[in-house]
Amino acid sequence: MTATWMLPDTTQAWHDEGHYYAAMAATQNLPDDFPAFFKDGVKTIAHLSIDPDVMKSRATPQLTNLESSEHYMDIEFIGNRKLPKTRYEFYKLCEELDLSPTKVGTAPYAITEWTQRLTTAFSEYRKSPDNPHIQMKCLIYAGILSHYSADMKMPLHTSIHHNGYVHEDGSITQKGIHAKIDSLPSKLSFNQIFKEKLAPLASEDDVFTFTVDELHKSNSYVKQAYELEPKMPATRDLDLYDKDVIAFTVDRERAAAWFTASLYLSAWENSKKMEVPFWLDRDLFDNQFDPDKVPDKQKAESAK
Ligand SMILES: [Zn+2]
Repeated sequence: MTATWMLPDTTQAWHDEGHYYAAMAATQNLPDDFPAFFKDGVKTIAHLSIDPDVMKSRATPQLTNLESSEHYMDIEFIGNRKLPKTRYEFYKLCEELDLSPTKVGTAPYAITEWTQRLTTAFSEYRKSPDNPHIQMKCLIYAGILSHYSADMKMPLHTSIHHNGYVHEDGSITQKGIHAKIDSLPSKLSFNQIFKEKLAPLASEDDVFTFTVDELHKSNSYVKQAYELEPKMPATRDLDLYDKDVIAFTVDRERAAAWFTASLYLSAWENSKKMEVPFWLDRDLFDNQFDPDKVPDKQKAESAK
């Protein structure tokens, strides 16, 4: 039994197919001169893309508590206030607005932080391109990052209308829309969505501002999502014929892949400017480690 057939959790965006597809297309659409190990690692990256949803489990309550709000941000809660650039400043803003950060969601911070983890790993790769541990680290960070970036391109992950339209009188209509949209990519094949190359990628110095702009763009599709909802098939129905719903699915999945690939490219470019700490000697541990020796003495000896 695959996750596709289980009862959908409303906080789980895009079914596993949606995440797997977006991560795969993001990696495949990187420029030709992108490091080959990364492009060859496409299956590992795509594998990891599903994990932030897998980690949400009754068996891992603390992790689930942390994880849940990383997948969305209901941007309407923030009104015309500017999102601060760091997570803890955001928590302060939430306090000021009398909102819980877990209610608003923290996705832009998760995305920026994971992109910066990837930047760090790439900066090490630039110094030691043959180190297999560093390569593996890049693939893992990229896979996890792709989950959150793809979630953000599911429009309902940016909105208070995340599972039904919330009217001013407090009434809610079109409940259940979230699961319907989540399941849309699983009704199409990878090649139906990604036959053509993605649009040229962006490489951004300021990943947070880029991410917030992309969040607002995604939010602008909420209206279209609600207009199309009556034409969307039931979650478990694998047939998808309506051309407008197909176009919406293809467009949002491609946006997820484009955003993810742009974050990979940004991490790669930004890693040029990042120095590996002077005290970090990966070779000593990864290649020369001897449990009978004191590493620093060993290093001093080999320097003689
Ligand atoms: Zn998610």
